[in-house]
Amino acid sequence: MSSQKFTERKFGDYYKGNDVSICVPTSIEKREFGFLLFERGMLRHITFKAKEALESFLRATTCSDVYHSCSYYESPEAEMDRKGWLGADLIFDIDADHIPTSCERVHDGWICGNCSFSGKGIAPKKCPVCGSEKFNIGTWPCEVCLDSAKTETAKLLDLLMRDFGFSEKEVRVFFSGHRGYHVHVENEAIKTLAAVARREMVDYVSGLGLDVFFHGLNEKNWRVMRAYQDIRLDDLGWRKRIALGMQNFILSANEQDLRNIGLRKSIVEAILRNKDAILKSLLETGTWGVIRGVGFETWRKIAEHGVKLQSAKIDTVVTTDIHRLIRLTGTLHGKTGFKKVEFPVLAVDDFDPFKSAVAFKGGTATVFVSDAPEFRLGDEMFGPYRSQKVELPTAAAVLLICKRRAEVLE
Ligand SMILES: [Zn+2]
Ligand SMILES: [Zn+2]
Repeated sequence: MSSQKFTERKFGDYYKGNDVSICVPTSIEKREFGFLLFERGMLRHITFKAKEALESFLRATTCSDVYHSCSYYESPEAEMDRKGWLGADLIFDIDADHIPTSCERVHDGWICGNCSFSGKGIAPKKCPVCGSEKFNIGTWPCEVCLDSAKTETAKLLDLLMRDFGFSEKEVRVFFSGHRGYHVHVENEAIKTLAAVARREMVDYVSGLGLDVFFHGLNEKNWRVMRAYQDIRLDDLGWRKRIALGMQNFILSANEQDLRNIGLRKSIVEAILRNKDAILKSLLETGTWGVIRGVGFETWRKIAEHGVKLQSAKIDTVVTTDIHRLIRLTGTLHGKTGFKKVEFPVLAVDDFDPFKSAVAFKGGTATVFVSDAPEFRLGDEMFGPYRSQKVELPTAAAVLLICKRRAEVLE
């Protein structure tokens, strides 16, 4: 059996089995559905009146990926320009691909589509051998990468709930099934927001265009007061967030961290020597700038770094695209065999994708693994593997085959 047939059969078994729990979007009859078939292209503009019809479609047609529109349409089955857009949920995508981590060099790789030259880490702009710009990219749903995506997700949830005032019921959070998280906001007020308004929200949560000058960190204030009081922990919105970012940075930064944001050695030493005094002054009087020799430019750099630490690193294109298809909750991701799963907004810290998203329970398969990093499923560790035959639980075998790291041998 070919590896593709093997995966297709396992995916089919999943949708026919008892463990499947599809969570359909609200107003299912107003949504467009899309299905990626195994090597047979994409089916689009499909509609369903009820959950049962969708479920029986999924049992009859084996798909590698299942999507629905974030939008509501008058005629979701029509061509794009005739659908009659009624509104859309607000969607955020946090993907490890947009967050730099040091482990990418270990588990990611690329192969030139033209000459097959390969390398580790993120692909170069041009192939160093033939100059081609086309690459096959191999990423990995790694624990460290997913943890950093989760940290960004937690920041985003906090921004949406505290600063925008969305309730716990309106905001929903999901593991995407691959390398990231999705956040959906369903609320009547945001439903009809145009793309440009969604862009404003994107800018807010990612701190784009935020200038600390307008939050009091400017030379005029400095000349008058020789200190800053506008960015305070007891404020609201970004002023509080900048203060928090500055505080956390000063609390945890070592010499190199402070040098990395462009501070001179003498200033770095003054900050490290006076760490306690800086934090005490902030907590007691809400004042920055009490240390001799540490002036306006330094506080500005620290504040700008504070913005970076507090902003949520999201994939900005997804949120502004009001016609986008998003993965259906409870369906499998074609690149991993993991499920897209929802978890409680207040339980972000405890969520474990490598436990909750595993779809295939029981059974084993023998595969030949070309190259795979060490990974965990549930409580069990696997790998690393290199050019070897190994018998694995179905979920692990499917993951490696989907990531094109292994071929099935039975
Ligand atoms: Zn090449
Ligand atoms: Zn990683």
